[in-house]
Amino acid sequence: MQRLEADPRVTIHYHSQVTALHGDTWLEGITLKTGDTERRIETRALFIMIGAAPNTGWLSGLAETDAKGFVQTGAAAGQSDDYATTAPGIFAVGDVRAGSVKRVASAVGEGSVVVSRIWQYLEDLRVTAA
Ligand SMILES: Cc1cc2nc3c(=O)[nH]c(=O)nc-3n(C[C@H](O)[C@H](O)[C@H](O)COP(=O)(O)OP(=O)(O)OC[C@H]3O[C@@H](n4cnc5c(N)ncnc54)[C@H](O)[C@@H]3O)c2cc1C
Repeated sequence: MQRLEADPRVTIHYHSQVTALHGDTWLEGITLKTGDTERRIETRALFIMIGAAPNTGWLSGLAETDAKGFVQTGAAAGQSDDYATTAPGIFAVGDVRAGSVKRVASAVGEGSVVVSRIWQYLEDLRVTAA
């Protein structure tokens, strides 16, 4: 971010939303809304960066997250299991897990590993209830 801010070729429009795209055959411009002010910017390209914010608000009060909302697991959650959260029976894998490598292969790998942990958790519950 600091490098972008220092680059004279880059203008950062903080607190702004792209609210419209313009053009018939190809992109010719966008509408940018900053507060109550809307203005059109002529441009031929728009790149969208998505997926960086975890959707974990619903977990609030159930399992602990870090300051950015990624779910704490393993040692950070006081658990010996790498994928166990602070909430018994709730496991987290993939991008949503704090400290995970944000890559497809990692998410798939963690997902495959956690299945046996879930079976073990359920088995332990069954044994305890018996
Ligand atoms: C722009 C971009 C480019 C990327 N490029 C690469 C790349 O080249 N190579 C690579 O390896 N990785 C890449 N990644 C990262 C890769 O996409 C992720 O690491 C991977 O998808 C993580 O998988 P996941 O299952 O953990 O999460 P996700 O793929 O994000 O899946 C989570 C799912 O849960 C759903 N969900 C969210 N909240 C709820 C809810 N409350 N209830 C039910 N469902 C819910 C979401 O809709 C989503 O379908 C890229 C990511 C982005 C954003």
